[in-house]
Amino acid sequence: MRPISYGKQYIDESDIEEVVKVLHSDYLTQGPKVREFEKNLAEIVGAKYAVSFSNGTAALHGAYFAGGLGPKDEIVTTPNTFAATSNAALYLGARPIFSDIDMKTGNIDPDEIEEKITQRTKFIVPVHYSGHPVVLETIYKIAKKHNLMVIEDACHALGAKYKGDPIGSCKYSDMTVFSFHPVKSITTGEGGAVTTNSKELYNRLILFRQHGITKNREDFSRTPDGPWYHEMRLLGYNYRLTDIQAALGISQLRKLDKFIKRRREIVSLYKDLLKDNPYFELPPEEEYAFSSWHLYPVKLKEPYIPYKRDIFEELRKKSIFLQVHYIPVYMHPYYQDLGYKKGISPISEDFYKREISFPIYYSLEDNELRYFVDTILEIMEKLI
Ligand SMILES: *Cc1c(COP(=O)(O)O)cnc(C)c1O
Repeated sequence: MRPISYGKQYIDESDIEEVVKVLHSDYLTQGPKVREFEKNLAEIVGAKYAVSFSNGTAALHGAYFAGGLGPKDEIVTTPNTFAATSNAALYLGARPIFSDIDMKTGNIDPDEIEEKITQRTKFIVPVHYSGHPVVLETIYKIAKKHNLMVIEDACHALGAKYKGDPIGSCKYSDMTVFSFHPVKSITTGEGGAVTTNSKELYNRLILFRQHGITKNREDFSRTPDGPWYHEMRLLGYNYRLTDIQAALGISQLRKLDKFIKRRREIVSLYKDLLKDNPYFELPPEEEYAFSSWHLYPVKLKEPYIPYKRDIFEELRKKSIFLQVHYIPVYMHPYYQDLGYKKGISPISEDFYKREISFPIYYSLEDNELRYFVDTILEIMEKLI
């Protein structure tokens, strides 16, 4: 049996061929592949614009910058996420405010959001945790009432749909952020993107990822000195995706539907194999949601919670390497040092104690999944 993890990439020969073609071409970066990848991504999610970035964290940084986040501003977000969601606010001198989650889905609870909004709040940043969409319409309504932007952290959710609309269409948001890290829906190695329907946000995103420098005549503030002329308009970064990565992304996007279909098959198998089991509560898919199933987050039932460490240790002996998503962001020492108190999001803390991310990825075979289920059930039987 191969080692089993909670998630990993799938690369085939056609992916490799596309990358090799770029290596033989004139452009390794900033060539035609980046634009083609952005065009295809925008089309697939149904947004006007897509801007690629060197990774999802850079894309979050870009989205927050483009949205005008600055020192002393606040964002309202979830603690049940990867640290990058809130770190990107810290990069800009802003303060993340954590709003607790719904125990069922692990997503931000819209009923909690409004009491976290202050005069300083700029955005609401929901995360489609595990690929299960948040209740976008409700969140968008709250945002509009308080004149805030919604920026979706959809790093788990490429291929997911909310009420039939692809995540990334920005129907109920201003921008949507994706990651193409190897464990996500598709991969470019490292990579990320922001989608939007706003020309103004698009222009700021483009500037931000390339040093704030423009070569567009229409954007110049003065008469060009000559054909070489370009202008730096704001302090940006070098956050570009390469053509090598974009070629991989184009090839991977062609397989997105197939990838999500297999993830959904795995979910059906889990439902069958773990039906009526006494140990784990399985994750739901709400009627408004079509999940991309980036994670399969099960929750330990009450009497088994204290044994999570033992379960992980036993699984490791069988070469099964799982993860827990997530340690509530504010519980990390860095955030504790910033003054965030333990206990501010009790449901997230309880969720963290219970959650285990079961294996789910395209190349996970049925026999591997059965082996995993048999192994974990055996471990559970012996626990108490
Ligand atoms: C992966 C991830 C990110 C960061 O993406 P990178 O491409 O690894 O920088 C941000 N937010 C969430 C929720 C993620 O899962």
